[in-house]
Formats: sequence, C-alpha cells, structure tokens
Amino acid sequence: MSTKDYLEKDYYKTLGVAKGASADEIKKSYRKLARKYHPDANEGDPKAEGRFKEISEAYSVLSDEKRRKEYDEARTLFGGGGVRMPGSGSAGGTYNFDLGDLFGGAGSSGGRLGDLLGGVFGRGGGATGTGQARPRRGADVETETSLSFSDAIDGTTVSLRLTGEGPCKVCRGTGAKAGTVPRVCPTCEGTGQGSRNLGSFAFSEPCKTCRGRGLVVDDPCPECSGSGRAMSTRTIQARIPAGVADGQRIKLAGKGAPGERGGPPGDLYVRVHVEPHPYGTFSRSGSNLTITAPVTFTEAALGAEIKVPSHGGMPVSLRIPAGTPNGRTFRVRGKGVRRKDGTFGDMLVTVNVQVPNELNGKARDALESFRDATAGADPRAELLKNANG
Ligand SMILES: [Zn+2]
Ligand SMILES: [Zn+2]
Repeated sequence: MSTKDYLEKDYYKTLGVAKGASADEIKKSYRKLARKYHPDANEGDPKAEGRFKEISEAYSVLSDEKRRKEYDEARTLFGGGGVRMPGSGSAGGTYNFDLGDLFGGAGSSGGRLGDLLGGVFGRGGGATGTGQARPRRGADVETETSLSFSDAIDGTTVSLRLTGEGPCKVCRGTGAKAGTVPRVCPTCEGTGQGSRNLGSFAFSEPCKTCRGRGLVVDDPCPECSGSGRAMSTRTIQARIPAGVADGQRIKLAGKGAPGERGGPPGDLYVRVHVEPHPYGTFSRSGSNLTITAPVTFTEAALGAEIKVPSHGGMPVSLRIPAGTPNGRTFRVRGKGVRRKDGTFGDMLVTVNVQVPNELNGKARDALESFRDATAGADPRAELLKNANG
C-alpha cells in the first residue's frame, strides 16, 4: 500500500480499536471482524467484500510492529489523517505527490496479506464473491434493429437480444476453479492500484499483476480461464422514438452492460434500419414524407381538387392549379414525420400526369375537337429551331 493510504486510512478505526491498543487486542478484533465479513459468509455481497479487504489491509499494517510504527509516524507528521492528497478519491490518471522517500519505501511487503488469508481461513472454502475493489461502470453496447416504415415514423418498442460480457456463471466471477479461492494480489496487496514514478510524481494505474482486480487466481476456472468474465445473452425492451431515420444511431442511456459492484450501467447504441413502405406509397426525405400522386391530363390542364392519402390519418385535399405540369411537387404542411422537438415535417406530393390508354367514342371525339382547337401550337417548335445551334 502507498503512503497515500497511510494518510487517508484510519486503520485503528477500521479495526475498531484504540490507537494505543495492544497487539493482542488488535488480533482479537481483527479475527472477529474478518469472520463477520469474510466472502464465504457473505457470498455476492460487494459491501462485505470491500469491508473484508479494508480489515485485512488494516491488520496487515497494525499487526506488524515495524509497519505500525511507520504508519503512526506518517499520520503524526501529516496531521493524523486529516490530509487529503491531491487527486485522491478520483479515478486513475491524476497524479499524487510521492512521499515514499520520506518513509523508506513502506509500500513494499510482498505476499503478506495473501499469507495471512491462507493462514487464517485455510484453502478450499468454496467459491467466493470477489472482484475489483472499486465500482465499475458497465460497458457501452452497440446493436442493430430493423423497423417497419410505419414504426420508424410513429415510434415503437423493440426487443433486443444483447450479447455481452458479464460475470462467469461457473465461478460466479471469481475466476477461480471450483473449490479454490482467489488470493489477495501480493503486488498491490488487494488495492488493485499500482503506481509508476515519473520524476517526483507518482501516477496511479491499475496493478499490473492482477490487472486492477486486487486478487490473483492460482487455479483458474476452466470456463473463463481465470478471467471471471464470460459472454452471456440478455433480452431488453428498448423504446425507439418517433421519427427515426434509416441509418440513425440512437443512444439509450443506461441500457448497456450492467455495472459492477454498484457502478452505473453503460449506454446502449442502436443502429436503426428502416424498411421501405410495403406498397411504396410513401418514402422519407428527412422529416418529410414524399408521395407520387397520379392526376389526369384534364385535372392538370383545368385544375382540380384532389385527395391524397396521409400517413396514419384521413386523406387530405390538395388543390392543383390549372396548367400544372407533370412532375410538379406540392407541399402539404405538417403531414410529415414527427421531429425531435415535437413539430412535424411536411408531405411532398409530386403529380404524375396520366395518359389514358383506352378511349371510348365520346372521349375520343372530345379529344379530337381539342386537337383541332389547338392545332396551331407545336410543342417541339423550339426544339427544332435550336437543334443545329
Ligand atoms: Zn495487484
Ligand atoms: Zn469462470
């Protein structure tokens, strides 16, 4: 453990003894507390596990005459634990002043805690709920889903099967083979923290021996090879908001992998694929809906009031002015897709002028009269004139 630990942690308080307690009192109190909080007696209780580590750490210092003296001196020198080191309490990456020189390298004492645990409780106590000391945020998860055209516009709830890493079920996350227990990491003595010295600064980083777990496994679980982690599948219900577009990535906060030891869950990112409209009636253009409406030649030429379908509602009326050319687009306001801010896009109606493929006698007579009445106008006159520059 580091000098920082010495300054921040009150080992006497942790063990519930007075500062001047005898070695015997310390030992007695430790045994009582260690039995109460031992992982075997508190399976799957991360709080008890944390307490157990604290108790073990406190005892490893106070039970050693030399280290207890160093600890007392350190705390006297720096005001009895009232000093908070810069960056303390925050995650790795911040730097702390390295006071190791002052105390003659008090942090090196390999194996002590591990021996202690082995000695007091023996081995083969069965699987225990153990892991890293700190709460850990769950991982962010990415997945995909396919939505129908309508569901993308209206919003929907989808079932998503997520495959992700979680605690190994065989060893319950300990990483240890059945019938064995992990032991406290001798390098970091269970804190999971290592430090790297750069000049006069010491950087905190996860312990290299145990990769931050605070524990090492001698007989690894065959299922997870000692990692304590395994792939598992879960199904969740996810609410997809109205108006999502094809290819959009939606963030569902807190729906990612569960956190560990009280840590918050990660986020879920869902890539959405939107299927085309089953009859091709509508298409999407951002928050606008597009539709092609057939109109007759006379509707386009004379003007008309036509009815066009809207998505999920009654048909709407649209006025086509006289002389509307083929392919002109009209805008019906507010009949598009709901936007994030609650407003709606528009429906864009493009007219497609139809040519009758069959004419009865009366219609033919009428069209022939129309032709005769408009004989003077050649629609290709311009084309012919400009063809040769
Ligand atoms: Zn370690
Ligand atoms: Zn396992």
